[in-house]
Amino acid sequence: MSEYIREVKHLDRHLSSRVSRLDIELTERCNSRCIHCYINQPEEDQSIKTREMDTAFVQSVIKQAADLGCLSVRFTGGEPLLREDFADIYLFARRLGLKVLIFTNARLITAELADLFTRIPPGKLIEVSVYGMHENSYDAVAGVRGAFKEFWQGVTLLQEHQVPFIVKQSLLPQNRDELPEFEAFAANLPHMERTPSYSMNFDLRARRDDEAKNRVIRRMRISPEETLAMLTREPEKYIKEMRQFAAKFMGPSGDRLFNCGAGHGACIDAYGYAQMCILLRHHDTVYPLDQAKHRERSPGSGLSPLEYALTDFFPQVRKMRASNPEYLKRCAVCFLKGFCDQCPAKSWEEHGTLDTPVDYLCRVAHTNAVYLGLLKEGENSWKLAPEVWSGRLKDFTNDNSC
Ligand code: SF4
Ligand code: SF4
Repeated sequence: MSEYIREVKHLDRHLSSRVSRLDIELTERCNSRCIHCYINQPEEDQSIKTREMDTAFVQSVIKQAADLGCLSVRFTGGEPLLREDFADIYLFARRLGLKVLIFTNARLITAELADLFTRIPPGKLIEVSVYGMHENSYDAVAGVRGAFKEFWQGVTLLQEHQVPFIVKQSLLPQNRDELPEFEAFAANLPHMERTPSYSMNFDLRARRDDEAKNRVIRRMRISPEETLAMLTREPEKYIKEMRQFAAKFMGPSGDRLFNCGAGHGACIDAYGYAQMCILLRHHDTVYPLDQAKHRERSPGSGLSPLEYALTDFFPQVRKMRASNPEYLKRCAVCFLKGFCDQCPAKSWEEHGTLDTPVDYLCRVAHTNAVYLGLLKEGENSWKLAPEVWSGRLKDFTNDNSC
């Protein structure tokens, strides 16, 4: 190999191993038992707790990421504040100069923790999930009596200590009537610069571990028509954004499974496996960061487990092709691909494969496409001839009327 090629290969590996942000799921356990949650495990489950990464393991992963140029880390869960070593992990990341983003339900915010965030700010806005504006609605979603009071106390402590945070909401039958109240509350928070984001097309269980809960989650999802109504509350803004989006991202992807950012960064699960994104837990797509397992899987690579995952393992997975005939007939030739949320992670959650169309998401995409004039009522996106869909896409993206 010439020196030049060696140099180029080295540079190539160096660039592909850069990771700007790392997600770490510190635990799947949660002090809430939200009815719609895709991951939560019981707070008190000791067998799960003992399998979680210990402090030193988490810190070594953060160090590996920092060595790869990582600038920020997101701590999520489950409820990340359940970890007794949360403050140690937080301080370790901050001392390495990483900004920290925390996803929390705020129920475990104490005066000490709020004080810590004041003295050593996370560097990123804390994101607080809200499940209701009143005791009845919140506790019904969280499945825990007294949860609302703790949430409210946590949020109050953050405000009193002037810790910057924003809020977001899961839109559920239990709290849907409270939307104006939630938005008025959010609008009064000093760091809310935009309208809050909402979760509404909930994911099924990411570990495919609870079919009874999946049935509940399906019932909690809002219909495609309600999704559209939420998205188009500011219709001109929505249409303008969709025009820009469509111009960049819409169009058939063929049998290539990964057309998204999965694998360009990493999400570390609670047990020390690197995932390509926060949802994708199919066993063929995750890589162990445990040193012994890493040596077994890739002897002599000379790379840290995280760097190996980013530069060798994930790129291999990204080459995977779809083989499911139903996918090849529909999603592979569908011009709504990119606009529709169907993807390997959603297919995994719903069907246990990486390449099965997800009917709920298909209906959501079709309802939106009809609204935008990309489809006519009753049409199937995958049956349109290329000259028909490409003409419609062109008209839509070139239309300057709003
Ligand atoms: S959730 Fe789906 S679309 Fe998003 S990064 Fe993961 S695989 Fe890709
Ligand atoms: S709209 Fe339907 S056919 Fe098209 S990508 Fe989504 S799930 Fe597949």
